[in-house]
Amino acid sequence: MSLSDSFAAFGIGFRNLFRPKVTAPLPWKERRPRAERYRATFALVHDAHGDEACIGCKMCEKICPSQIIVVTGGPKAESPNTGKKRGWCADFTLDLNACIACELCVQVCPADAIVMLRVQEQPGFDRNELLLTMEKLYANEKLAEASWADGSKLIAMQEPGGATAAGGAGEGGA
Ligand code: SF4
Ligand code: SF4
Repeated sequence: MSLSDSFAAFGIGFRNLFRPKVTAPLPWKERRPRAERYRATFALVHDAHGDEACIGCKMCEKICPSQIIVVTGGPKAESPNTGKKRGWCADFTLDLNACIACELCVQVCPADAIVMLRVQEQPGFDRNELLLTMEKLYANEKLAEASWADGSKLIAMQEPGGATAAGGAGEGGA
């Protein structure tokens, strides 16, 4: 490049400093609301009495098309909170590495024990980070807001007039 070319390039750059802006600034100070349909990862939750809601029935394990849920049911025992005998889960793992986010495990759960969370997909440096143990799944209950969808609401949506039965939550997104 000759010296005159360098001056010409400098002149163009200098003139561009004073041209009106043609792009809008990103709203970097403003936090945009997350879309209703946005969800990833899972949590196991506690029921209204404070018990772990999962009864170890294995229905999520059986329906999962990716076969990535493994549930070990525990013996039936009395709830310390209600005194009623019920099923318990002894161990639960969900391998997020192969999850296709179909949400069938949530839909089939008779105890509304498993939910998806309204967070972005979480990358991992190692496959084990995406292996959700029972401990991680219960810790996730407090980590982020759960999707509106639980087993009862998703089943209700399939009844006639289902969107109303689900409190209208499904109107904007499933
Ligand atoms: S959402 Fe993931 S874990 Fe649940 S049934 Fe579908 S593939 Fe299996
Ligand atoms: S999460 Fe729900 S479907 Fe899966 S084992 Fe527990 S109670 Fe059964």
